[in-house]
Order: sequence, then C-alpha cells, then structure tokens
Amino acid sequence: VCALMHGTDAGVGVCRNRCDGARTEPDPRGFAAYRAAGGYQVLDRLRAYPGERTSLLERIATHQAVGRAGVGFPVAEKWRQAMAVGRTPVIIVNGDEGELAVFKDRFILESDPHGVVEAALVAARITSADKIFFYVRDDYAPIHAIVRRAMKDVVEAGFTDGITLELRRSGGAFICGEETALIASLEGRPARPVERPPFPTTRGYLGRPTILHNVETYFRLRAAWSTISTPEVPVSSLLDAGVVLFSVSGRVQAPGPKPVRDLARLSDLVEAAGGLVGGVELGGMVIGGSSGTIVSAADCQRPLADLKREGLRLGTGGAIVFGADDDRRVIASRMAAYLARESCGQCGPCRVGTGKARDVLAAPGTLDTALIEDLSTVMTEASLCALGRNAGRFLSRLSPLLASQDA
Ligand code: SF4
Repeated sequence: VCALMHGTDAGVGVCRNRCDGARTEPDPRGFAAYRAAGGYQVLDRLRAYPGERTSLLERIATHQAVGRAGVGFPVAEKWRQAMAVGRTPVIIVNGDEGELAVFKDRFILESDPHGVVEAALVAARITSADKIFFYVRDDYAPIHAIVRRAMKDVVEAGFTDGITLELRRSGGAFICGEETALIASLEGRPARPVERPPFPTTRGYLGRPTILHNVETYFRLRAAWSTISTPEVPVSSLLDAGVVLFSVSGRVQAPGPKPVRDLARLSDLVEAAGGLVGGVELGGMVIGGSSGTIVSAADCQRPLADLKREGLRLGTGGAIVFGADDDRRVIASRMAAYLARESCGQCGPCRVGTGKARDVLAAPGTLDTALIEDLSTVMTEASLCALGRNAGRFLSRLSPLLASQDA
C-alpha cells in the first residue's frame, strides 16, 4: 500500500503507516474461549468416530467449499485427489499472503487462530495426513507468536494424535506464496516455481501428496460442519459462502478487512471502508492485488457484473482506493516496479518483461503503448507461473486507462 500510494518502500503487505488498518495490539481468541464457544467439537467426533470421515468429506463437497486464493478449486476434490495417491499426505496452511495490499489472512489469524488450526487438523484426520505446516510470512512477526501459541494449545490438549505441527517463516518474497515455490522453500531449496503437472496434490512436499490452502480457505471450512459444531466466530459473516472478504486500503476513512455480501459496484467498497478521506474525490481502484487491474472512477460506479463479463477478476480481494489527484501512471509504474523486484528471474518473459514494463512506465513523455502490448502478449503467453502471466494481463488493460487520463 505504501509502495503504491506514498512511494515509499515500507515492505510488502505490511504498512508501517497503518494505512491498511493494521491493529497495533492483536487480540486473538484463545483456546479456552474457542473451546467454550463450541470449537473443536467436530475434531472430538472424528477422534471418537473415525468412520465419520467419509460423511464429513461428503458434507464439505455438498457445501461446495472452494479455495479462496483466487482460482476457486473445490476443496473436497483436492482432498480426494490426495487421498487417491496411496501415500501419506501433508497439509500446508499458506499464510504467506504476499499480494500487495491484501491482509485478510493476517486479520483472521489475529482474530481466531484456532478456527484455522481446527480446520487443518480436520483436514489431516480426514485425509490421514501426518504433518501440518503453518507457513507464515516473515514480516508477520506477531502472527508467528499467535500461531505458535495455538499449536502449543492443541498439542497440550492431546488433539494432535501423532500429527506433527510445524511453523515455518517464509522468506518474505511474493513468490513464496506460489504453491510449488512454497513447497520448494519448505524442502530447503530456493523458492522458485516449477512447471505443473504434476500438481502438488498428487506430488508435492518430498514427493508426497500435498494439500495446500490459504488461511481463509481453512477458516471458512467450518461453515460446512456448522450443524455439528457451531462455535461463535468473530467474523461470523465469513460462514456465508456469498460473502467476499475484501482488503480495502488507500484513501478511505476506515481501511481494513471488509466482509461484503453481494457487492453491486466497486464504489460500494468505499462506503464499506467509511467513505473517502476528507477532500478526496474518487479516482479509481487497484483491484486484485499486485498484478491486478486499475479501474477508473467511472467503472467503479458501473455494475460489477458487467465488469466481470468484460474480464475483471477480484483475485484475493485487494482493493486500493486512489483519488482523482493520484497519477494512474505513477501507480502503474510502482506496481510494475514491485513485480520486477519480486520476479524470481528464472524465466525470460517475466524477468525481462517486468523490468522493461517498469522502465517504460517510469519514462517521461508519451507512453509507448505498442511496446506495452508486446510485453503483455509475451508475458501472458510464455511465463512459467502466475506472477509473470498475471503481470502480462495487468499490462494488457493499462493502455486505454492511461490514455484516458492523458486525454
Ligand atoms: Fe519466476 Fe516470473 Fe518465471 Fe514465475 S513467471 S517462474 S516469478 S520468472
């Protein structure tokens, strides 16, 4: 957020100016309170009646639980694929959250860590996994202590039954959140993506089937078993499948995580975040994280359904609001600079393309739109992983937007 709005390099995902609504004193619900509210009952049942694993997995499938990292792959399908391999699976909770201005996973872990730990243990019991990794980005230091405490609680309560829990700190690079790069870093190798297939679900950590979801996906799983166990949750609206958790930041009064149901227009996110800061007129938004889309103020007022039909993706729900006086070209060049810095550099289209895009956007004078289009095509079609491909898509939507500002 700082990198885009203030031009400072305050770090990825952590805003030291608090313009992302970060709490100074996280106040997580502890083990006793979670347990008293009905937490871990579903785990109790699975431990007492292992035969219920099949029906619970069916329940998760019926509930249509999907991954919340942007792709929306069905959770139950992923678990079944891992179980079909015939080797003991590994569970990974991805709390890397390297997307620019996305901080919903941090918010969940700060609020209700046991909601995530319980879901990971349920996943391990259903799939017969023997290991759970909690992979949390390096600059979420307070979260490391919260997760460590939650792990200690469940071990001391005797809930783990031979399943080992391990907290790993990611290196802080954006690419560490890409699943194959994440697994490489867990194995002690450089965090570089590898081509798929095979997908980690069938061949992941040390060659074993690996189930990897982000924090929000695990947290929202409890909606699938809410008739078995109904713990109150601090963010109860997240149990509603129709609710999207947006990370709203930038020039708004009350930045932070905002659960929103049936978002009609992007401008409604400004209202959800308390309106614009004084004296600012809406200039638009960056939607969808690091390689997201810059949306004009006029498009923010249009029906979201129309924008989606035209190809807009909400991604992991990042929304950086900027003002009419903020220069879109400057914002775009800072996004490109971020992508160039975070490219792991192992494939040419991304390594060279993000660097060129950064330089072209930062150069004074008329934008070389032909070069931007060329870079976009090559990066989208030839990059190895989503960072490079999404960076190409980000460029493809840029020229008309910047041209309308210049006009
Ligand atoms: Fe690395 Fe970029 Fe290639 Fe992904 S697309 S593997 S981040 S160089």
